Amino acid sequence: MTKDITETGVTRRGLLRGLTATAAATVAAGAAALPSSAIKAWDMHTGVLVIGSGAAGVSAAIEARMAGANVLLIESLSQFGGSSAMSGGVVYAGGGTALQRALKVEDSVEQMYRFISLVGGVHPPLDKIQLYCEGSVEHFDWLLAQGIPYTDKLTLAKGLPMGDESLYFSGTEQAWPARELAVPAPRGHVPGIDGMNGGRRLMQALLSQARALGVKLQGRVRAQRLVTESDGRIAGVIVTLDGEERAIAVRRGVVLACGGFIHNRAMLRRYAPQLYDCSVPWGNADDHGDGINMGIGVGAAALRMNEGFAIAPIYPPEYVLSGILVNASGQRFISEESYHGVLGDAIAYHQQGRAWLITDRDSSFTFHQDNFLPVAEANTIGDIAAQLAFPRGALQHTVAYYNLHAANGEDPMFRKSRAYLRPLQGPPYTAWDLSTAQAFFPAHTFGGLHTTVDGEVLNSFDDTIPGLYAAGRNTAGIPTAPYIASGLSVGDCTFFGRRAGRAAAVGVAA
Ligand SMILES: Cc1cc2nc3c(=O)[nH]c(=O)nc-3n(C[C@H](O)[C@H](O)[C@H](O)COP(=O)(O)OP(=O)(O)OC[C@H]3O[C@@H](n4cnc5c(N)ncnc54)[C@H](O)[C@@H]3O)c2cc1C
Repeated sequence: MTKDITETGVTRRGLLRGLTATAAATVAAGAAALPSSAIKAWDMHTGVLVIGSGAAGVSAAIEARMAGANVLLIESLSQFGGSSAMSGGVVYAGGGTALQRALKVEDSVEQMYRFISLVGGVHPPLDKIQLYCEGSVEHFDWLLAQGIPYTDKLTLAKGLPMGDESLYFSGTEQAWPARELAVPAPRGHVPGIDGMNGGRRLMQALLSQARALGVKLQGRVRAQRLVTESDGRIAGVIVTLDGEERAIAVRRGVVLACGGFIHNRAMLRRYAPQLYDCSVPWGNADDHGDGINMGIGVGAAALRMNEGFAIAPIYPPEYVLSGILVNASGQRFISEESYHGVLGDAIAYHQQGRAWLITDRDSSFTFHQDNFLPVAEANTIGDIAAQLAFPRGALQHTVAYYNLHAANGEDPMFRKSRAYLRPLQGPPYTAWDLSTAQAFFPAHTFGGLHTTVDGEVLNSFDDTIPGLYAAGRNTAGIPTAPYIASGLSVGDCTFFGRRAGRAAAVGVAA
């Protein structure tokens, strides 16, 4: 998968040969567009130019090529695959996929739609969600056809399978209130290989498919800025290769697929301060928001730039879920069994980034782990509260109320499932620091360019910018905050990446 550019259809020397100097000065990626009148000579021509070699870009490239376009895909790094190759490779799919049917899992488009539209953030993109759910069965067939290996194996354990199971509950479907809003079904589809290698395997398959179709892949080429005609149409892109600027003319369309901006500290501070404080920027080294800024540079609107996946991965092991999560007031604020992204969102966005997991003897981590550090240990809840300087009596009240109802198998506040519900009793009690800054608290961004369901980039007046398309974490897509299930991002990248690639090649069907 991680081929050097010399192994691709376009060689470094070939590109260098075809390139001549342009009038443009070197600028930061994403700077304002350059008028085409400033280009003395184009160094190269292509039908469709895809920028970024992650799941969104490669899916776009495959479909653009299938639609008959000449496709050049450029990647700033020497390795192809982006964050997508680092990921678990989980794709959120449902409504009766081939794998769900093989495993006799019942699901429907309607329940999948209810889950994504009702459980996530406010005002989600309903047009995209509807299309995504309706197209999910076909999309999974497409993933299979690209050669991604899935096994007919289901696991009911919480968390990404580390064995070769390919289907699991990847989100918060079974936690309250989600389970009352939509019938839970396992929809996390993950390549059936051991360990956290799903993303690598998924990208291997997509990249070799792109190569086989004749997509030209070029590494170590960084897109810097878009070039526009006087009527606003995108005419091409200025890129850098070995520090030299080159101009690529694009006949049909440019697809921005450069990923998110979790490694751009200035953008995080400006747009997503809650994510700025999270301890682990989770993503490919070039998650700098270049594509988003290039889009903004030609007048594109950007949406939900504050949102992202803030992750509090307290399970596995599932036995810690018998503990309770409390905020700085010593109060519970969520069902502890909620998916990592829902827990992380609650802490990062709604509790000023501070929370603690309180465990008793039997819910304490029984193995060494340094994701969450023990910051108080005592034989009484009162002593824990004192060590954490909680408001007087608050934690004691929280635990007494919780224990009273847990003894009857009830959780009136957050309806935690009975499997994880029992009174907290039996010292020592431990408080584990779950703060965004101190704990292992990964995060990446969801905000991006405003696009149609076909990836056409829109300005603030909802007008399309001719010749410009975007997909994946360059766009504001299906993943919103809170992130309710693993697989919604790579699912969105591949599904809407395909649509953007097709639209860039042949336009949007009326
Ligand atoms: C450890 C980890 C596990 C994850 N697991 C999952 C999971 O299982 N399921 C899921 O849905 N999500 C998961 N995610 C999130 C998911 O991986 C990303 O949101 C998604 O892969 C983004 O895909 P993309 O195609 O938009 O961008 P990327 O895959 O990041 O690809 C963008 C590419 O563009 C390149 N690029 C950037 N700027 C330029 C430029 N100026 N010129 C040229 N190229 C450029 C980058 O180098 C990169 O290769 C995970 C993330 C991480 C870090």
